[in-house]
Amino acid sequence: MDGSKLNGHVATEESLTENGYRKYSGEGIDIYYNKDVCIHAGKCVKGNSEVYEVGRRPWIIADNASTDENVRIVNTCPSGALKYIRKDGK
Ligand code: SF4
Repeated sequence: MDGSKLNGHVATEESLTENGYRKYSGEGIDIYYNKDVCIHAGKCVKGNSEVYEVGRRPWIIADNASTDENVRIVNTCPSGALKYIRKDGK
């Protein structure tokens, strides 16, 4: 799934917030998560346990991986619960 899109449109902070996504800010990328969409498939945690750690607060720390790695992991989320907005213009 393309984590930069929401309902077929390029995701924006406004559209994600309106749709119940919470922001986890990073230096080069912001990751967004919607717990109501998550199906607990665990792709994120298995994909990168430094960024995603259930029970930690915050449970997502984008800066624990590169921006490209964050994009890769978000795109493995099968439900669309994870989204991202790159801040590096790529
Ligand atoms: S990969 Fe997506 S659906 Fe699976 S646990 Fe993570 S956020 Fe939830």
